[in-house]
Amino acid sequence: MSHLGYTCSKKFQGYPCCHRQWKHPGHCHFVHGYSRSFTFWFASGKLDQFGFVVDFSSLKLLEKKLTDQFDHTFLVNEDDPLLGKWRQLHEEAAIDLRVMKNVGMESTAQLIWEWANMILLDRDKGRTCCWKTEASENGNNSAFFELTPDWYQLDDNILNDIDKNLN
Ligand SMILES: [Zn+2]
Repeated sequence: MSHLGYTCSKKFQGYPCCHRQWKHPGHCHFVHGYSRSFTFWFASGKLDQFGFVVDFSSLKLLEKKLTDQFDHTFLVNEDDPLLGKWRQLHEEAAIDLRVMKNVGMESTAQLIWEWANMILLDRDKGRTCCWKTEASENGNNSAFFELTPDWYQLDDNILNDIDKNLN
């Protein structure tokens, strides 16, 4: 669990979107906007043929999911009491609505962690994983989700090699 092997990170930034936290007693229940950014931390016990943990040029699918969800969109929680009105505005093409379990940075960090691992497991069959994500709403506020998927296995050869080199 604590052994990750090689790690690297990739940041995606500049996703203008707005949201509201309808339950919040303070000003966060008003619709307000941010430029979100997202960072992913990847790990692998075995590098690919180019010597990479994850080839960043192969993350187009992940980038597309981020764009679909967070670029010029309006995010609300699934239990927002005005949901009917937001759907109406969406139909009138005034907003591009996305309904989420929770629009906050913590839930967003968990959601994008799931996306990244879904894509990586499908493609790399367990060679790579995403073990940490960060979702930021601006330069000051961000939240993290950190978990190594249970299917991720560090290659034993790596540990043996390192052992040999150290002894
Ligand atoms: Zn807020």
